[in-house]
Amino acid sequence: MISGSFEYHRPSTLDEAVGLLNQHGDDARVVAGGHSLIPMMKLRLANLDHLVDLQSIDSLRGVTEDGGNLVIGAMTTQNELIGNAVLAAKCPILAETSLQIADPQVRYCGTIGGNVANGDPGNDMPAVMQALDAVYLAQGPNGAREIAARDFYEGIFFTALEDNEIITAVRIPTPQGGHGHAYEKQKRKTGDYATAAAAVVLSLSGGNCTAASIALTNVGDTPLYATDASAALIGTAVDQGAVDNAVALAEGITNPAADTRGPVEFRTKIAGVMVRRAIARALSRAR
Ligand SMILES: Cc1cc2nc3c(=O)[nH]c(=O)nc-3n(C[C@H](O)[C@H](O)[C@H](O)COP(=O)(O)OP(=O)(O)OC[C@H]3O[C@@H](n4cnc5c(N)ncnc54)[C@H](O)[C@@H]3O)c2cc1C
Repeated sequence: MISGSFEYHRPSTLDEAVGLLNQHGDDARVVAGGHSLIPMMKLRLANLDHLVDLQSIDSLRGVTEDGGNLVIGAMTTQNELIGNAVLAAKCPILAETSLQIADPQVRYCGTIGGNVANGDPGNDMPAVMQALDAVYLAQGPNGAREIAARDFYEGIFFTALEDNEIITAVRIPTPQGGHGHAYEKQKRKTGDYATAAAAVVLSLSGGNCTAASIALTNVGDTPLYATDASAALIGTAVDQGAVDNAVALAEGITNPAADTRGPVEFRTKIAGVMVRRAIARALSRAR
């Protein structure tokens, strides 16, 4: 299908982009890689009078280290996350996750900002951002503000971002050296969204778990941060009992839709399997 007609804007500064959003209100939307928004427009599920393209705003690109944080510009593509040397050394779960998103053609265009802002529970990066305790940096007409990834998602395609705000970057506390990580995704075929997926980041000291975070993709209206399941690992040796407990707690917060990816019970159990696998792989990496 062909989208409805719209006016195309290509600002070269962030202020100009925010000004356009502010001027046109909910008739306008930013477009980044376009690989979620354009299909929605072609299906006429999104009808917009104004598209504000962020491609020419250079300040929105790239990866920097800022004290104990990694700062990733919103327009950094999923493919760039795979190839970035700093991220490979300090936060390898980002490349591991990016490689499980769609296919190279999508990853060359799709951006980290678009993936986290989209609000589709099938997007893979939001759960990873929650597991990493990332913060989204947003700019609007009244200035800048920060929103924690764990507080950002409110419903399907509904987030804490205002219509006139733009995510400029994602800030991630650099994971502890020697941490273990894993993103496990069950999908029906290459390029598909998750039936269920789990992100796990944990740290060990003297054989015991000192920090753990678990988050889930596509088993609820939003990505799900598994607070109790994460806490259940801390202070344990991540033995069988602790893992069983964490898996049960994670399954308990899921509320997946019954759809072409399977019935509710199946997707709930797959979420548990993904958590179990991700803990095992994160643990072996932490050791
Ligand atoms: C065939 C196919 C398979 C896919 N499979 C997967 C998959 O398995 N996993 C997955 O995670 N994704 C998948 N995707 C989606 C892909 O990763 C998208 O690129 C991503 O969801 C959105 O990024 P984008 O840069 O393309 O954003 P766009 O499509 O341009 O924008 C998406 C939404 O985010 C908003 N937005 C974009 N950037 C910003 C910003 N900086 N600030 C505020 N709002 C912003 C837009 O206004 C829009 O509402 C797939 C896409 C396709 C076409």
